[in-house]
Amino acid sequence: MKGTPHIVIGGGLGGLSAALSLLSVGRKVILFEQNEAVGGKASQRYLGAYRFDTGPSLVTLKEVFERLFSLSGAALDDYIPLRELHPITSYFFSDGTRVCSDSKEAMVKSISQNLEVTEQEMRRYAAYTREIYDLTHRIFLEKSLHRKETYFNRETLHALLRFNHVDTMRTMDEANRAMFSDERMIQLANRAATYNGSSPYHTPATFNNIFHVEHGLGGYAVANGIYGIVDGLKRRIEELGGKIHTSSPVEKVLYDRNRRITGVRVMEQTYSSDTVFSDVDTIHLYRDLLKDTKSPLYRRYLKLEPSSSAIVFYWGIAGTFTELSVHNIFFSSDYRREFHEIHSLHRLPSEPTIYINITSKVTPADAPEGKENWFVLINAPHSSEESDPREINRLRETVLEKLKQELRVDVGAMIEEEEVLTPHDIEKETGSYRGSLYGISSNTRLSAFLRHRNRSNRYEGLYHTGGTVHPGGGMPLALLSGMVSVEEYLHHSGGSSLWES
Ligand SMILES: Cc1cc2nc3c(=O)[nH]c(=O)nc-3n(C[C@H](O)[C@H](O)[C@H](O)COP(=O)(O)OP(=O)(O)OC[C@H]3O[C@@H](n4cnc5c(N)ncnc54)[C@H](O)[C@@H]3O)c2cc1C
Repeated sequence: MKGTPHIVIGGGLGGLSAALSLLSVGRKVILFEQNEAVGGKASQRYLGAYRFDTGPSLVTLKEVFERLFSLSGAALDDYIPLRELHPITSYFFSDGTRVCSDSKEAMVKSISQNLEVTEQEMRRYAAYTREIYDLTHRIFLEKSLHRKETYFNRETLHALLRFNHVDTMRTMDEANRAMFSDERMIQLANRAATYNGSSPYHTPATFNNIFHVEHGLGGYAVANGIYGIVDGLKRRIEELGGKIHTSSPVEKVLYDRNRRITGVRVMEQTYSSDTVFSDVDTIHLYRDLLKDTKSPLYRRYLKLEPSSSAIVFYWGIAGTFTELSVHNIFFSSDYRREFHEIHSLHRLPSEPTIYINITSKVTPADAPEGKENWFVLINAPHSSEESDPREINRLRETVLEKLKQELRVDVGAMIEEEEVLTPHDIEKETGSYRGSLYGISSNTRLSAFLRHRNRSNRYEGLYHTGGTVHPGGGMPLALLSGMVSVEEYLHHSGGSSLWES
């Protein structure tokens, strides 16, 4: 282990990934987390005998998790046992159609058997989404976009030559409409936009690569819940000698007059280091920890649209539903109106799409026998304001009414434990600006280039990780941001590449 410890602020997935990557290349690490436990958006809560993951629920891009652990000399399976889901999601359309989606060849069959889509159309769509992924993921997900080497190499040249295949000029909805005529299939494909908190009517068709990520590469559950990811990372970090301090809010990032990082202030104690990795939301970092609201990057970030947020109901349900899977979607009848209300009118959708995640289906200990833990998520506009309880209640009634129609059971009468999470709570608990789930939205063509860089060009020794910086939000991307930020640090400090270590 070399020199003084490097400091990581925030124990979200990006911070944990940066900490583990630093330890993997022999650096010392101290991580400070303001909450009682690490995890950030990926935390857990107990209501009576029920356990709930608070935020993310679907694991994709397993290879990113494997890579992070293998860099540290460990096998993912020994820390985070992932289980491939079959089916991945049960979709309930407003016309009464039900489809269980799967991955790879099973996905082609399940969709073409239930919707007005031929196997040939499905294969063509799978190939189209795979090609976008193949052309983009190394450049846009695994490298810094702020280094010239990223642009001058054979891979990027190949992608540039096939630039029209990346489909940047159409919106996701336009591209999907050109591929399919069945409105249900278009709605199913358009849902990918919600995986980065955007609208399919604005986000570029490039993000159809998310369909490949889920259905081409597969969706996974974690044997001991999503929080098992956080537990596994924490265990490996501590095995390698990393120190994690919880209930330790960083009050200030310290720097000298040449803007060289000198350490952090935590509960009136100073910890010195010339290298700090920040996993906290970019706006929170500049405004509250650096006290640098004059920074051009801070000003620019303030003007960018945050991704959408969510209202989550955590319900302990006294009963089981065999017709439901681990992931379930009850689509609204008018998707365009729903996204217009969330992204343009900034209000709760009048008729929302309902997402229900039930981890007790794969992790029985998450609910008492004969019962289920329902995580019910509604996409909502980003907001710092406290939600009006009357509006939340109205939304709850709308959701319960829709579920009553679909499942022919009064779910409301089966709720025996209950809590709700609002955008305001997300901001308060994780520091996420306006409770946005994925940093800035991807509603414009340039969003990938607008995300904050991983190495500061304003503060020497400051690195940025997490869902609000490059390459963006979502669990695998937050993990990648940790690795890319450490790769940036190694490049800048003359170390060998993380990917080659
Ligand atoms: C409801 C919800 C549903 C989601 N669904 C999915 C999904 O299905 N799939 C998916 O891939 N992703 C999903 N996401 C997104 C995913 O959870 C995030 O992109 C990812 O977890 C963000 O990680 P992060 O590193 O940016 O940090 P965050 O989780 O934002 O953590 C930042 C950490 O920094 C800490 N912190 C802040 N300020 C300080 C300070 N001053 N001092 C010390 N510590 C501080 C916070 O307490 C927090 O622990 C969802 C998110 C939410 C909220």
